[in-house]
Amino acid sequence: SLDIRKVSKNYEVDGRPLKVLSDINLHVGPGEFISIVGPSGCGKSTILRLILGLDTGYEGDILLDGTRIAGTSLDRGIVFQDHRLLPWLTLEQNVSLALENAPLPAAEKRRTVAQHIALVGLQGFETVFPHQLSGGMAQRGAIARGLAVRPRILLLDEPLGALDALTRLRLQEELLRIWKAEGVTMILVTHDVDEALYLSDRVVVMNSGPGRIVGEVAVDLPTPRVRTSPAFASLKQ
Ligand code: ATP
Ligand code: MG
Repeated sequence: SLDIRKVSKNYEVDGRPLKVLSDINLHVGPGEFISIVGPSGCGKSTILRLILGLDTGYEGDILLDGTRIAGTSLDRGIVFQDHRLLPWLTLEQNVSLALENAPLPAAEKRRTVAQHIALVGLQGFETVFPHQLSGGMAQRGAIARGLAVRPRILLLDEPLGALDALTRLRLQEELLRIWKAEGVTMILVTHDVDEALYLSDRVVVMNSGPGRIVGEVAVDLPTPRVRTSPAFASLKQ
């Protein structure tokens, strides 16, 4: 499980400290799917950056299964709003890159890459370059890359925010399916409250000035959730 305890974070702006996170406390159980919502600038991406281990300059503790996180590690993956696939590498090479430092034999790495490309429905596109993929396909690629290291936690920073409405609906279903299939803990930052309520077990609400948690909503929907509207049924074909 992930434990964020009394975390505060300052950035320095024009030589003066700017408090961006104040006394954040958050517990995320194994296999939980939580969302974080809140106004722009309240510190959502900052929290993900701290969990990822990209920035260790903060007060308080972030523990993963009881151990303080120290730097980035293969047990945490991330997906951003833009896919950030490297344009000069094929899809397969992009996903492989995530496994560069994984302690796995080459054959096992190849198998894992193929598995995760299939997991996001991109089999057949292994040797394609990012610019040849649609926005939704590229995001699927980014999700495959984030999951290829078999992280305990997948951090999602507005992963569907740049997609058109129909692609977003499709990928919401994909995220739920992948979550169920992989048993991975998901932490989703989104501006779409409907998306947060639909996808997660729990929605954490933040406010700014400085960024803090102001509330939490437990979502009482059975999982896996299935959209029931006839419009969605026709969309899936
Ligand atoms: P959005 O919804 O727009 O993505 P956010 O909630 O993710 O916003 P953050 O990106 O976490 O917000 O930023 C939180 C605050 O920290 C903002 O006030 C931002 O200006 C500030 N900030 C972020 N990164 C830095 C940095 N490297 N140096 C200084 N200030 C920063
Ligand atoms: Mg952000």
